Amino acid sequence: MNILITGAGRGLGLELTAAALERGHAVIAGVRDLTRGQAALADLAAVHGDKLTLVTLDVTDEAGIAALAASLTEQARTLGVIINNAAVLNATDTALEALDIEEMQRAMDINLYGPMRVIKHLLPLLTGPDASIINISSEAGSITNAYPGSYPYTISKTALNMFTQKLHVTLKDRGIHVLSVHPGWMPTDMGGAKAPLPPRTSAEGILDLIGQKAEPSGHFRFVDYTGEDMDI
Ligand code: NDP
Repeated sequence: MNILITGAGRGLGLELTAAALERGHAVIAGVRDLTRGQAALADLAAVHGDKLTLVTLDVTDEAGIAALAASLTEQARTLGVIINNAAVLNATDTALEALDIEEMQRAMDINLYGPMRVIKHLLPLLTGPDASIINISSEAGSITNAYPGSYPYTISKTALNMFTQKLHVTLKDRGIHVLSVHPGWMPTDMGGAKAPLPPRTSAEGILDLIGQKAEPSGHFRFVDYTGEDMDI
């Protein structure tokens, strides 16, 4: 199966790429900067060869994503799974009075409009019995758990969950499985050194969720990397 992963050059995206390749999947690894991406993924490319395709994918660049879709279509490549992993965190929990609206716009542009652009253009390529869209969300996006994070990050992840809901409603009759996943607190550049969960453990758990279809339901599933339901 072909799995497309955004933000594949570091953090959870890199571990998802490594874990998917080890399971025998072909990975289309999206990175913003091809030179940096080639360096980050060099070891995996050496081991997995043609199974790894590196592509330039900046989730804010709609024309670039459309060009990627056209190029994959031309090569007759389909996708079994799309993992929207790329995101930014504005960790500063400023008061509303001090909120920088441009930070808010940047978080929405990457964390929400990014996955929307990706699915808008790549959905026609998604096919197969386990066809899935996995939006990497966060417990920070839960409305009911009142997470104390920054306005840009929490609101962008809540909105991402609503995008998952819209996709769920639209795509369930086509058998496309859509999930929002909280990956756990991991010691990546975003999570910081004190985080307890190895990103590889999270990546393996997330890949295990592929093909695990729940009973048809009116609302989307928001789960953690072990498949446990999260509070929406
Ligand atoms: P990192 O900050 O370590 O990595 C972020 C990734 O997103 C990088 O690959 C980065 O690419 C990419 N990225 C940022 N902006 C863009 C863009 N415009 N276009 C394409 N790629 C972009 O984050 P993590 O690996 O920790 O996080 C992965 C996911 O998990 C995110 O969705 C995050 O919100 C979520 N998450 C993480 C938690 C944690 O504890 N770490 C907890 C809860 C959720 P580049 O190298 O080019 O900058």
